[in-house]
Amino acid sequence: MKIREECGIFGVISKRRADSGNIVFAGLISQQHRGQESAGISAFKDGKIITHKGQGLVTAVFDSETLDKFNGADKAIGHVRYSTKGNNGFVNAQPITTSHKKATFALAHNGNIVNADKIRDKLENEYGVVFNTSNNCEAVILLIINEMIKGNDFITALRNVVSKIEGAYSMALMTEDYLIAVRDRVGFRPLCMGRTEDSIMVASESCALDSVDAQFIRDIEPGEIVIIDNGLNIRSIKDTRKAPKGLCSFEYIYFARQDSVIDGRSVYEMRKAMGKYLALQNPVEADLICGVPDSGLEGAKGYAEQSKIPYGSAFVLNRYIGRSFIYPTQKAREKAVRLKLNPLRAAVEDKRIVLVDDSIVRGTTCAKIISELRSAGAKEIHMRITAPLFKYSCYFGTDIDKPEGLIANRMSVEEIRKHIGADSLDFLSIENLLKISGEADPGFCVGCFSGKYPIDLDISDC
Ligand code: SF4
Repeated sequence: MKIREECGIFGVISKRRADSGNIVFAGLISQQHRGQESAGISAFKDGKIITHKGQGLVTAVFDSETLDKFNGADKAIGHVRYSTKGNNGFVNAQPITTSHKKATFALAHNGNIVNADKIRDKLENEYGVVFNTSNNCEAVILLIINEMIKGNDFITALRNVVSKIEGAYSMALMTEDYLIAVRDRVGFRPLCMGRTEDSIMVASESCALDSVDAQFIRDIEPGEIVIIDNGLNIRSIKDTRKAPKGLCSFEYIYFARQDSVIDGRSVYEMRKAMGKYLALQNPVEADLICGVPDSGLEGAKGYAEQSKIPYGSAFVLNRYIGRSFIYPTQKAREKAVRLKLNPLRAAVEDKRIVLVDDSIVRGTTCAKIISELRSAGAKEIHMRITAPLFKYSCYFGTDIDKPEGLIANRMSVEEIRKHIGADSLDFLSIENLLKISGEADPGFCVGCFSGKYPIDLDISDC
């Protein structure tokens, strides 16, 4: 089992009418790893928002006919979702749109607003607002409208709302006049901006900009609202309140695609550096360094480079089994590991192997993989994990909210080693995770490893 990211977002604004649907479609496909349960696109066309969304992968939700409906739209935003807050039903699929006499707009969101429940209570109790979804961003939409009813224009209303919401949010909003990107002041989730000759795009990850041949402009800064108008003029508003920087370190460890660059750091290079630090931290004699596909591979390369032990493959990955397939029972899930990863006997037989993976959540998948490698003849298996011990809940847009299910919360490293059946086991230390950027303060959230979060979770006001 892996910790899972909540969502990915993409938005485009063009100087002229464009095939916005196809542009967002490409941006979403390249961010499919950020959410596989639902996908959606909303576009502004002839003064109205048109939306298509559904459950499943991007390619299952959209075909050429549905994408053709967006032709001629100069603005569009899209979303891929893995549900953490709210159920995974169609009603919670994004973008969420509203057509109010004060404003017609659409919103797509990645993260988790930690005071959303308090905001919902307040809106329900004081204003009699009725919610249609259990989705965080419906509260944001209704707060914006509430601010506009008080006489504020859209941008002022959005600024006021941003000062009331706390937690992790990277958002793309689309009005008739603007494409807007918003990143929370801690900067938990990534958000960046790129351009082509006649369009500007915003995306969770830079790999999505590459997919539409956009040139990377820059990351949206923590606490920044970027407003792009129909003439492609860019305006930036900064949150002047002080806040610690806290990009989710799991973006580098596992969530993001290795060809993305987040806050100026290559995910690929960061993963390799994690492997290198693991090799320095706890060297071991071995014949072969292998990674668990896909997100353990770069760490294994870094470990191999540092240790000078050969790098090789230990498994064949069946690429036709997606991350999204849900197996109903634990037994079925364990069987599925074998369907997805088959050990390469010719490579591992009689070898002492260092096996690098990105995390251990419950330990069942890891135990299964090690047992498969032993059956294929591996002599020793030294497990190395590119994340520190994952002990605490995450409140910022992932699916881990109960620490009881985390193996590191109830077992020591030695107990985990025995449980998974490895000859040795080591996790990257928090200190080394913080060192890999080479900066004195990399501005990472390490809350699920240390129990110390960048923001106070007891937020009483909204
Ligand atoms: S608590 Fe962990 S998973 Fe959650 S944002 Fe922080 S580093 Fe990421």
